[in-house]
Amino acid sequence: MSKTALVWFRRDLRLFDHAALHHALNNAANNGQKVICVFIFDSTILAHLPKKDRRVAFIWHSLVQLKTALQEHGSDLVVRHGDPVELIPQLAQEFSAAAIYTNHDIEPAAIKRDASVEQKLNQQGQQFHHFKDQVIFEKDQILTQTGQMYQVFTPYKRAWLAKLQDSDLQSYPVQPHLHQLATIPAQRMPSMSDIGFEEIDIAFLKPGMDGGEILFDDFCKRMARYHETRDFPSVKGVSYLSVHLRFGTVSIRELARTALQIGGEGAEIWLAELIWREFYQQLLWHRPDVVDHAFKPEYDALAFPNNEAHFAAWCEGRTGFPIVDAAMRQLNQTGFMHNRLRMIVASFLVKDLLIDWRWGERYFALHLNDFDLSANNGGWQWAASTGCDAQPYFRIFNPTTQSQRFDPKGDFIRRYCPELAELDNKQIHAPSLYLHPQLAYPDPIVDHATQRQAALALFKRN
Ligand SMILES: Cc1cc2nc3c(=O)[nH]c(=O)nc-3n(C[C@H](O)[C@H](O)[C@H](O)COP(=O)(O)OP(=O)(O)OC[C@H]3O[C@@H](n4cnc5c(N)ncnc54)[C@H](O)[C@@H]3O)c2cc1C
Repeated sequence: MSKTALVWFRRDLRLFDHAALHHALNNAANNGQKVICVFIFDSTILAHLPKKDRRVAFIWHSLVQLKTALQEHGSDLVVRHGDPVELIPQLAQEFSAAAIYTNHDIEPAAIKRDASVEQKLNQQGQQFHHFKDQVIFEKDQILTQTGQMYQVFTPYKRAWLAKLQDSDLQSYPVQPHLHQLATIPAQRMPSMSDIGFEEIDIAFLKPGMDGGEILFDDFCKRMARYHETRDFPSVKGVSYLSVHLRFGTVSIRELARTALQIGGEGAEIWLAELIWREFYQQLLWHRPDVVDHAFKPEYDALAFPNNEAHFAAWCEGRTGFPIVDAAMRQLNQTGFMHNRLRMIVASFLVKDLLIDWRWGERYFALHLNDFDLSANNGGWQWAASTGCDAQPYFRIFNPTTQSQRFDPKGDFIRRYCPELAELDNKQIHAPSLYLHPQLAYPDPIVDHATQRQAALALFKRN
């Protein structure tokens, strides 16, 4: 009988509360196997990324932590670069593995990739075991009474909370059986340049399990006030954990458990955000066509004029609308954008500039540290009114009033648009309304009231 099992890490870069590793170690303890941990830098995904990419650096640094933790337990992390469809079956042969364990990834491309891997492994006589790990409820675990997917968030959330048992929040411990990890020769970690990327400073993102823990501990002290602070980008109100949730350097079960323990309005609303994450994941699983198409078919082929110069101004943060420009500059400089600002800039792109939401979605996908297909697509289709439980098309954000409401003193604008720093708290939201001959800041590229009417007409035609 084969003496090893492999655990294939993907978006679960931690050595605690890990479903696949837990099951692999437990089975190994029962049948005398040893467990080897592997990670593949997927060349098909990396090929489409810019050569300086914060996400790749985040993964790289998180892997270093994972590797060190495995070394402390007498093992190591096997890291390769290439096509996992080739490499995983190869590694399975190289290490004479009886089985490969991994956690679910519900993105359409990942589902396809995993099916190919499984087929090859089965041809080689090896088993492929996969587990739910990155969400509390997945796929069709939450359905309406008639067995359909939920299309509205609030009843989905209600059903999610009603289904929740203590067992859903229990960790998948790995500590008790870590001695089942295999002792293997020291493994070389490919450098960033080996995989075709340049170094980029991401220390501010606090990568890895350690970073996730620091951020979560910090947020726990603020969670009770989340409902009051979460909408203000200049305030430290949110958790900043999205990139950690994306790459699994934190455990969703620990996060949800802690929110329920803390309780109160802030924690409840934060838990609801974690449930939004699962709402969009189940949506993508049920409706993979949303990757390219509007969830609402009647809005799939809206005749957006798609002005390329306007798109470039939006991307570069020079639309003449300070809150939009500050937000886009934050994205370009840091890879993060506050949720309120994501809603404002997305609405502005679609309903003020009349540009197809898919253009904005692609730009976010390239630049967001926390880019996640389901949340990004869900967020864009929400803002564009084409999506599941989306903003109705006739509710159009006014960027200036949003700015006055959510950045009342202009603190956030001043941080990213220093050329506006000297303006007073009133003028900073709409500098063009006041006479500033010396100001090195563009005039608004569109008129909101005019574009609002044009957007309404565009949607009404369908
Ligand atoms: C147009 C648009 C695009 C977006 N793209 C992404 C994306 O690519 N990746 C991503 O993780 N989030 C995305 N979001 C959701 C949200 O903006 C971010 O999750 C949030 O800003 C991250 O900051 P945080 O971790 O401090 O969030 P917190 O406010 O602390 O929320 C906690 C966690 O809940 C989840 N969450 C919060 N809001 C949402 C939401 N609306 N939808 C799904 N999950 C949510 C995230 O995992 C987040 O980390 C998008 C929203 C919009 C409007």
